[in-house]
Amino acid sequence: AKERGKNSYHMYAPDLQQITSDKMFIQNELNRALALGELDLYYQPQISVGNGDIVGMEALLRWNHPERGLVSPDQFIAVAEETGLIVPIGEWVLQTACKQNKEWQNQGLPPIRMAVNLSARQFLKKDFTQMVADILEQTGLAPHYLELEITESTMIDVHRACSTLAELKQLGVHIAIDDFGTGYSSLSYLKEFPLNRLKIDRSFVRDMKQSPSNRAIVSTIIAMAHHLELRVIAEGVETDDELAFLQEHLCEEVQGYLFSKPLPLDEITTYMQQRKQK
Ligand code: C2E
Ligand code: CA
Ligand code: CA
Ligand code: CA
Repeated sequence: AKERGKNSYHMYAPDLQQITSDKMFIQNELNRALALGELDLYYQPQISVGNGDIVGMEALLRWNHPERGLVSPDQFIAVAEETGLIVPIGEWVLQTACKQNKEWQNQGLPPIRMAVNLSARQFLKKDFTQMVADILEQTGLAPHYLELEITESTMIDVHRACSTLAELKQLGVHIAIDDFGTGYSSLSYLKEFPLNRLKIDRSFVRDMKQSPSNRAIVSTIIAMAHHLELRVIAEGVETDDELAFLQEHLCEEVQGYLFSKPLPLDEITTYMQQRKQK
């Protein structure tokens, strides 16, 4: 056992160092990225199962690093959260997404929702609602065209989450619970909080064909949501079989590679224009 302990020390020590320096590297670089405008939003359509219309877009953060290329949020969101950089970054995301949604409306495209991901740290800031209100006013976007995606972990501080949610409801923006079913929180918040939508996580949608338990989870989430008068969107829909199952169980909306990957602004705008003509 002693021998093994020694080995694992040797194995893990360099990794740890690597991780720590990576973190500092990312933090420094992220600061620069925000200042230099290297952050970008990609957009992925949300589709009505009933009629195939685009009913929303999810804004997904990308980092255009000069040497590393396109960096995905999984590689930097955690560091941004730890360092607090997520707050200015998140504000930039909200501002950019709301402005873009209003811009599409100005171009004569059918009005749709814009879904924006929030980290707990951002959502639980004291002046969060005021910041959202300011952005809506400044961009001219009507509040019901903004949907904020929060995760179950944001709900753990029930008291603070509850008052912010009440303020946001008052303001008229929509709230979706992202990655639903993957967190550790209890379900009691579902009846206490003013929510609009549950978003079924990709981990349940994936493998539905092979996995009876995934099918059971998905159909149960949909049924429960409907009993609670919440709407449901499924993410990560990649196949016709998955879509058929969701349709059969009356899931209202879907999002996933079956329709489109997240696309940069020019490509998603073309996609919307082509869809409109159909
Ligand atoms: P999420 O909110 O659960 O977003 C869904 C992720 O699944 C996205 O990854 C999306 O590109 C990917 N995806 C969508 N459809 C499919 C599909 O059919 N198949 C597969 N295999 N993947 C699909 P992405 O863009 O890399 O984002 C990862 C996570 O980063 C997001 O997970 C979200 O939690 C976080 N994130 C992204 N943008 C922001 C942001 O602006 N703020 C915050 N706080 N977090 C963000
Ligand atoms: Ca999301
Ligand atoms: Ca997810
Ligand atoms: Ca997520």
